[in-house]
Amino acid sequence: MNPYFANYLYRLIGIVRREPVHSILKNIRNNLFLSPDKLKKIQKDKLHSIITYAYENIPFYKNLYDHYKINIGKLNLPEDLRHLPIIEKEDFQKHYEAFFPYRLNSSFAKIFNRFDIEATSGTTGIPLRIAKDRQKSAYIRATMFRFYSIYGISIGEKQARFWGVPVKRTDRLKEKFKDLCANRIRISAFALYNENFSRIYESILSFKPKYFYGYPSVIYEFAKWIDDNLGSQQPPIESLKCIITTGEILYEHHRQLMKRIFGCPVINEYGSTEFGVIAFECPRGKMHINADHVFVETIPSKWTGINEIVITELNNFFNPLIRYRLGDMGSVRQGGCNCGWTFPILEEIAGRTRSFIVTPDGRSVNHVVLGYTLRKGIKNFKGIQISKNLVKINFVRDKDFSERLLSKYERRLRKFLGNQIQIIFEEVDNIERTKSGKYAYFESLIDQGV
Ligand SMILES: [Zn+2]
Repeated sequence: MNPYFANYLYRLIGIVRREPVHSILKNIRNNLFLSPDKLKKIQKDKLHSIITYAYENIPFYKNLYDHYKINIGKLNLPEDLRHLPIIEKEDFQKHYEAFFPYRLNSSFAKIFNRFDIEATSGTTGIPLRIAKDRQKSAYIRATMFRFYSIYGISIGEKQARFWGVPVKRTDRLKEKFKDLCANRIRISAFALYNENFSRIYESILSFKPKYFYGYPSVIYEFAKWIDDNLGSQQPPIESLKCIITTGEILYEHHRQLMKRIFGCPVINEYGSTEFGVIAFECPRGKMHINADHVFVETIPSKWTGINEIVITELNNFFNPLIRYRLGDMGSVRQGGCNCGWTFPILEEIAGRTRSFIVTPDGRSVNHVVLGYTLRKGIKNFKGIQISKNLVKINFVRDKDFSERLLSKYERRLRKFLGNQIQIIFEEVDNIERTKSGKYAYFESLIDQGV
């Protein structure tokens, strides 16, 4: 579809759905460059309005803040945010109905209100239902396109989406329709077989996408196939301006291969179904928080030396999440980037709390150490911590594999994990993707006390 036509179609769908993406985008586009003081003022005002709204309209918060005897009017924000209790995923799941505003307290009222229900992929083991009204969806899309526009991607631009495909036929058809309206083609994370790659390559060449979007592991597999099979003979995908990766860790060697094969920037996005984009990579390689959309705090975790990310929504006047423990780790830094964006920086984003290898001497080591170590000769892997003393690594061999590599990798891993833990390697034919199409590179079967 012609991108101009697609843009107008998007606009039309926005009008029909009452989802004002374009007008919000116009209003917030330049916020990225606000002075820090102006940004602070916006955050302060939004936090104040959202907390007041929540207390007055949402049964869950009314009960919670009354229980803790919190005087909403007296909060000095954002400093006093820390006095509000943290919301856990379990709370949100268990009290699903109590997060709807009072005015929608009957199923009849819900029928006439416009909201969509989405489900998270449940990578943390707790699948969630999330009701999003059209204003929230519009903010999610507008703040996302604000970042994309920096890299020359506007609404309606052609996208090749490297993603999962739903198992249920009706869901598959729904996704197909959405893909069509959003001017994108979908490359299924479940169809990455050698016999499929040349067909995928041809379809991308003929569709002429302006950008790739999706899980880095899927785009990487495609890049690797090109590198192994076509090498320098490949015709370039000339339409391609950038690659935006999301949903999984973007390993540096994966990024480098994609850059070399596709000859365009590879940009990292950090987000979640609950909030949309939480942080986005700037042209200087820093992850800036989407600071007029989400307020990010970090709190000390049960894990020594690691902070947990806690998020408050700033634009959701339907069922806002206030101080919601997302389950990821990271640290916030004000300023310190010369790209021109003034939004704070999120550093050391370290994945889920359950993504740490616990060593017998009591340390917690982020599982990304596996991805940085197991490279040559290993096509894919999954680490499983079976007990405090045992980590098993299932791997699929690549063409340059040799047994010697395994002892080399074990030696390297010991530098991080110590000598007391047992590390065993087991060759397998295939590593399964999760239902959503992502790779879980690590799984811990022990109770980590979280
Ligand atoms: Zn920057």
